[in-house]
Amino acid sequence: MWFTKSKDEVIKDLQVNTIQGLSTQEAKERLSRYGENKLATQKNRSLLQLFFAQLNDAMIYVLLGAALISAILGELSDAIIIAVVILINAVVGLIQEYRAEQALEALKKLSTPKSIVKRDGKILEIPSEEVVPGDIVIIDAGRYIPCDLRLIETVNLQIDESALTGESVPVDKNADLILETLDTPLGDQKNMAFMSTFATYGRGVGVAVATGMKTEIGKIAKMLEETDTEQTPLQKKLTELSKILGFAALGISIAMFLVGIIQGRPLFEMFFTAISLAVAAIPEGLPAIVTIVLAMGVQRMVKKHAIIRKLPAVETLGSVNIICSDKTGTLTQNKMTVVKFYADNAFGDVDSLNINNPAHKLLLESLVLCNDATYSQESKTGDPTETALLEMGAKFNIFKTAFEEQHPRVNEVPFDSDRKLMSTVNKYDNEYLVFTKGAPDNLLKICNNAFVNGEIVPLTQEIIDNIMDKVNSMSQDALRVLGAAFKKIDTPHGDIDKLETDLTFIGLIGMIDPPRLEVKDSIFLCKQAGIKTIMITGDHKNTAFAIAKELGITDDPSQVISGVELDKLTEEELISKIDNLRVFARVSPEHKVKIVRALKAKDNIVAMTGDGVNDAPSLKAADIGIAMGITGTDVAKGASDMVLTDDNFSTIVSAVEEGRNIYNNIKKSIVFLLSCNIGEIITLFFAILFGWATPLKPIHILWVNLITDTFPALSLGVEPGDKDVMKEKPRNPNHSLFAGGTGVSLILNGALIGLVTLTAFVIGARVYTGTTNLFPIFPANISDDALTHAQTMAFVVLSVSQLIHSLNMRHPTKSIFQVGWFTNKYLIASILFGIFLQEIVITVPFLRNVFGVFDLRLYDWSIVVLLSIVPLVVNEIVKIFIRHKVS
Ligand code: ATP
Repeated sequence: MWFTKSKDEVIKDLQVNTIQGLSTQEAKERLSRYGENKLATQKNRSLLQLFFAQLNDAMIYVLLGAALISAILGELSDAIIIAVVILINAVVGLIQEYRAEQALEALKKLSTPKSIVKRDGKILEIPSEEVVPGDIVIIDAGRYIPCDLRLIETVNLQIDESALTGESVPVDKNADLILETLDTPLGDQKNMAFMSTFATYGRGVGVAVATGMKTEIGKIAKMLEETDTEQTPLQKKLTELSKILGFAALGISIAMFLVGIIQGRPLFEMFFTAISLAVAAIPEGLPAIVTIVLAMGVQRMVKKHAIIRKLPAVETLGSVNIICSDKTGTLTQNKMTVVKFYADNAFGDVDSLNINNPAHKLLLESLVLCNDATYSQESKTGDPTETALLEMGAKFNIFKTAFEEQHPRVNEVPFDSDRKLMSTVNKYDNEYLVFTKGAPDNLLKICNNAFVNGEIVPLTQEIIDNIMDKVNSMSQDALRVLGAAFKKIDTPHGDIDKLETDLTFIGLIGMIDPPRLEVKDSIFLCKQAGIKTIMITGDHKNTAFAIAKELGITDDPSQVISGVELDKLTEEELISKIDNLRVFARVSPEHKVKIVRALKAKDNIVAMTGDGVNDAPSLKAADIGIAMGITGTDVAKGASDMVLTDDNFSTIVSAVEEGRNIYNNIKKSIVFLLSCNIGEIITLFFAILFGWATPLKPIHILWVNLITDTFPALSLGVEPGDKDVMKEKPRNPNHSLFAGGTGVSLILNGALIGLVTLTAFVIGARVYTGTTNLFPIFPANISDDALTHAQTMAFVVLSVSQLIHSLNMRHPTKSIFQVGWFTNKYLIASILFGIFLQEIVITVPFLRNVFGVFDLRLYDWSIVVLLSIVPLVVNEIVKIFIRHKVS
């Protein structure tokens, strides 16, 4: 048992050197010996399983039934055709779904946590799956523990083990403990850290003792259920819609069947017509097309630096009307530079610091020692606030590594954004100095003296006012202000309550962090798009307001509120005020949840950014939680719906734009397919009602729905983004897909397609028979050949008019001339390809037989073309009226 052994024993057992870590070679060998560090999940579905899943559909059952009955009734060719179409449909569906699944799988990999290990003496970030037993793993707050570790170093390390033990209070860890009892429960093994738990505070180092399924969580999990890819609200609505359509189809089919029988039509013919109707009413291709359009959209977003972790987020993005953003690093560049200082009554540019003044010198020393970053000419690591301080120290020849060797750190209390303070204890000859740095308002509360010209004097109200005066002056210039304080202690300890009290104030520094250049434009774009931007920051109210003003978030000071003021408001008061607030300053992560709740209470759809462990609750509470990819912790990423790989506010805005476009494109595909289906229903419904011969065979409808329509529907899904999409207001998520005239257009277009198809049927029969009879299409007076010719005309017009109708879907109000004929090349290619396939069906003799059609003459084709462009012409005219009405 690793927890009963000493650190040295563990290190020896695992044959690793803690300074060097494993060698790359050794790690490679261990990886092949112990396997990848991951939990076995249920295998992804195999191709065969995916194939059978395609067949598991009510609509397919109907078709299989039809094929079977046809076979029994001796219509073998019909049975075979239906079977072939089912097969083609399954294969197309399979390919689409497989690609979509692969794309989503690749996406998941993009956002899986990485681990920091020591190898060949260097500190590396590697994929967690490559961690092997014996690896030296470094942990800091917010990071997931990649495997089971025996800790060998801990500094205030606390770990949330709720995933393993259910205990939600983080456990204090201690690397120095050696536990005696062999059956110590997991929760009490304080010198261990376990896979899938995460550090909430402090830092530590551990040796990997078990990986993959050998870990404690692996033993419990054995086989983790792969969580189902979540369906988006639209997908859920579609599933509902499909059910309704299924029942409707059944109802209409039975009704038509009965009408036909009453009319005295042959049973066999009516049976097939009923099946045609059922096929016409069910949009078979829809779910697959929606999935693939979503997957492609999500891949496009990756290129724009936004990784979607939860699929429903794509849709919600389009409805977002408030973006709450952290300031530092998201709205600003996070490139901090110290520009001003205040110490010992001197206030000015940092260059005028005087190293011979004891207060100035101590200010520099404290800020360099009370610091976790590293800085050298070649590289810097750590928090930009801290590297800026080291850069300032270096200018005055105080280099952290060398200086810390002289004054080693013996204890520390890490920074956290609730206290907004950090402290270290450093050895100065025979005594120990506590250094605390942080937000001046918080720091002054724990000071009772000030350091003036080498002397320690009591901190009077006058001195405090003077200091706050300087804080205000710097923060009004958009500077982030940090204060430093110190005290002497005799024995080093890490007790926060005793360290951060009775301190002596040393001085202040102010650093600039310029706004990101592109953010101002993005905020303007948001305004146009009906989206409010709210800034949330741990910084001082003045600093926050100055930056907010610069970025165009607000220039009204009454729209700024601080955490302290926020605390005084009740929930109701906050809700009533929230519409008028744009900047929340000096807030801690806990406030963020309060803010999200108030915004949501006012029916807003809220996106919220976050990076720290404590941000997880607010990320979960928001409609869209957005984690930072670079500075964000694993915990924040784990709680988020979307991760920004460049930490940039502008990326959120492009993601919203992309989200709106994806939704619109999916809507175009859906409405296109549904209007085509309605066209087919109308064709059959009226033909039967009028007592005509059946204008379309089941195979015709199947062909159009499953083959020729699929390509335009997919191409509509990849429509290039509409540049005006960010001039519209956010979409109300409660509005139905068919709101705002979409439903009417759906029915009208369906009616148009039905009308031209029926017209083609009539003309086909008339032309063939050369009759003067207006409607030569009653079963009683139509020859088999004339019927075949009429059906061919109906079939080709149905298919071609639908292909051309896809152009109508490109924009609800803009003319195709405004949108541009060739701006969606895929669509044009799909239409041409569809017409080509249609031509093949009617010209290749074998297929002609199978589909029961004639080859059309040029004259027939000219009629087909004339009829097929009718929906396009009508839509163009209607759109002119709509545009005039709107303008
Ligand atoms: P934002 O919320 O705008 O993204 P932030 O998350 O960086 O900013 P915090 O980290 O909470 O905000 O910082 C708030 C305040 O805490 C700063 O104004 C500064 O005074 C202080 N502070 C920031 N970093 C440190 C640090 N490393 N050590 C001590 N104090 C710090």
